[in-house]
Amino acid sequence: MTNDMPDYCVEKLVTARKQHRCSECRRPIQPGEQYRRIFGIWRRDAFAYKQCKECIDVFEQAIDDAVYPEEGPALGCLAEWIMHSYKKSECTPEVLAMLSRWNTYHRTQATERTTS
Ligand SMILES: [Zn+2]
Repeated sequence: MTNDMPDYCVEKLVTARKQHRCSECRRPIQPGEQYRRIFGIWRRDAFAYKQCKECIDVFEQAIDDAVYPEEGPALGCLAEWIMHSYKKSECTPEVLAMLSRWNTYHRTQATERTTS
C-alpha cells in the first residue's frame, strides 16, 4: 500500500468474539481481547486490518517518531518499518517485543514450510 490517503477509512477498538490474527505482528488475538479494527476503501478495493493492543502502542509511537506523518508505517508493514527506521539501540522494550512476536511467527511459518 502506498501512502495515498484511502477514500474511506474507519477505525474502531473492538473486543474479539472469535480468534483473529494481528496484521502487524501476526500473533493470534484471542476471543475477549481488545484489538483495533481498521476498515477502509482505497481505489475501489476494500481492506481490513487488525492490530493487537501491543501493536497499537508501537504503531502510534512509530507515527510520532516519523519525521513527517506520511513517512510513518503503512498498515501491515510495521515490523519492516521498524527495521528500516530504528537503530537497535533506539528500540524501546515494546518495539523489541513486537519484533520478537513477528520473528516468532515467521520462524514458525518457515518450519511449517520445510516440514510439509
Ligand atoms: Zn500485534
